[in-house]
Amino acid sequence: MKYFKVAVLLLLATAALTAGCSKKESGDMKTEGERKYFLEKVRNVMVVQAYADGFKDLTLKEKMLAWHLYRSAIAGRDIYYDQNHKHALKIRNILEAIVENPEGIDEEVYSEILEYTKLFWINNSQYDEDNSRKFVPNTSYINFSKAAAIAEANGADFGLEENEDLDEVLSHLRPYIFDRDFEPVKTNKNPGEGMDMLASSAVNFYDGVTLADLEGFEQKNSLNSKIVVQNGELKELVYRAGGDGVEPGMYSNELERSAQELEKAAEYAEPDQANVLRLLAKYFRTGDLEDFRTYNIAWVQNSTKIDIINGFIEVYDDPRAQKGSYEATLELVDEENTSMLRAFAENALYFEQKAPWADEYKRSEINAPVANVVYALLGTGDSGPKSPRGINLPNEQAIREEYGSKSVVLGNVVKARHVANATAEMEEFAVSDEMRERAKEFGGLIFDLKVAMHEVVGHASGKKAADLEGDPANYIKEYYSTLEEARAELVALWNFFDPKLVEMGVAPSTEVGKAGYDEYAMEALTNHRKVPEGDQYEEDHDRATHMIVEYVRRNTNGIKAKKIDGKTYFEVVDYDEMHRGIGEILSKLMEIKATGDYEGAKAIISEYGIKIDTELRDEILERSLAIGMSDFDVVVFPRLTPVYGDDGAVTDIEISYPMDLKTQMLDFKHFFDEKVEETDAEEVVIR
Ligand SMILES: [Zn+2]
Repeated sequence: MKYFKVAVLLLLATAALTAGCSKKESGDMKTEGERKYFLEKVRNVMVVQAYADGFKDLTLKEKMLAWHLYRSAIAGRDIYYDQNHKHALKIRNILEAIVENPEGIDEEVYSEILEYTKLFWINNSQYDEDNSRKFVPNTSYINFSKAAAIAEANGADFGLEENEDLDEVLSHLRPYIFDRDFEPVKTNKNPGEGMDMLASSAVNFYDGVTLADLEGFEQKNSLNSKIVVQNGELKELVYRAGGDGVEPGMYSNELERSAQELEKAAEYAEPDQANVLRLLAKYFRTGDLEDFRTYNIAWVQNSTKIDIINGFIEVYDDPRAQKGSYEATLELVDEENTSMLRAFAENALYFEQKAPWADEYKRSEINAPVANVVYALLGTGDSGPKSPRGINLPNEQAIREEYGSKSVVLGNVVKARHVANATAEMEEFAVSDEMRERAKEFGGLIFDLKVAMHEVVGHASGKKAADLEGDPANYIKEYYSTLEEARAELVALWNFFDPKLVEMGVAPSTEVGKAGYDEYAMEALTNHRKVPEGDQYEEDHDRATHMIVEYVRRNTNGIKAKKIDGKTYFEVVDYDEMHRGIGEILSKLMEIKATGDYEGAKAIISEYGIKIDTELRDEILERSLAIGMSDFDVVVFPRLTPVYGDDGAVTDIEISYPMDLKTQMLDFKHFFDEKVEETDAEEVVIR
């Protein structure tokens, strides 16, 4: 499973780490400074840069491992385009050829083609990955074909076969690119009366096949295959490299290259991981699901600093939910954030004792679960540029039951998105420059701290009343999630000013608390945009935030709504007062939870958490649209580059940040151009 919402991070926080806590040195505090997260908007999608600070501290051996896994992930990326649509790769090649050879193309036409190309990269085809609908360029076919002709005259390589002519190819592709009503949906699970699910889905897992045709048809490797009709008969085409007596299958070159990179990576891995990587390489060659199973069993039991998910994994794109979409995600454990989580877990009892609620609801023992936080170093195929925020694998239930599963939170992806949005918000919605300055200084850190305290100290805290039987959730029912999310948020907010944070080495000063409160009040204001229609919040986290800030506004002098030039701001005018209000509502919510008080939960959530001021909403929505805030986002990943010594040996793998989607995508396009023997394993000498 992959998760796209931060809301589910808690679900993932079950993979307890056994390793001891390595406390961060005080004075080695990382502040965000001027780091750039927001890169651009492409229609309604925000593009952000993800960072991976831990990479530079790796040993050369670890970097080499990561480097070959990085290569393996790029080697397979075309497969997902092809799975999404039978012409997606052909269209992408044409788009890239135009974008790389633009001299002489009308500027306006070029910028529309570039926008469409970016959307194509973002979605790995001409279909939106979120809603499965086709999107089209904002320019005409005539303009498009003219631009292509100019690019051709500029010497562009469209990747055509020898007997193909550009004009003919374009005119054939025309409806696929320009006609929104032609093959309108990629994956159509509800095609309507009398319509066939497969025939009405443009996705390329089946060709000329209907659901009825498949009755009684036996597939051998359902995850990594495509079903077609050949000479009037159904045939299963398997994705595999072949070799050792196995016939090569679809995408054999890509999979062989990927397998070779996995084997090279294995040379730099510890023995257990080396075995795992070789098992995956074997599966890429045989395409046999039994080999995939063997690999998964070994993988799930192998906990490593650098890890890769690579293969045919999730089945959401297949209307029948059987075919796996190709993806690769390369991860590096984020020691700093994982150890921050551990530090909070270790000190959970301290925070429990300082909680504002009655002693009878305090725990005397806490076993806070901690998940691994990782940097996503790369996501391709179904995992990029649109990146999941959390991953829990393997999917096979039998393996999960017998051997467990691995959970990660892609911390750098979650953070990039959050900070990018917050930065845009700050310009428009912060009430003072002082607030902006503080946000600049602590922006990323307050996010890390809040997530850590929310997940580790918050949800794990408190205990139910001695005489309450069973789980409070059974009593509080539909109000439970809002109540529990609010409780976790409040615990985080309550502790933001605790000097313990400085002592633990996770915050440079208690000033962090001010930035945390400023941003929280602002978030409650900007959240109004999430209810474009109607007058109430539905989502639990949104209800929780609204309830907290409304409570503080109405019952304390902590936060004031202020109007300047007709614009509304939420200003924290008194941090102590806000802290007091937070303590007050937190003790109330704890008591409600502890006693399983349904009526109490309903009353307080209905009073403060649900209804919004629609006039204020209209204002916020308008301002949000004007500054281009977005709830859809994609990631530009780090770039890895080998550094060679005079003797041709690799002396380092450098990490850098492309800061541009187009640059990264074109890097990938040319990644294997004439670089094949450069890093041949035999020639790489580690010094
Ligand atoms: Zn939560």
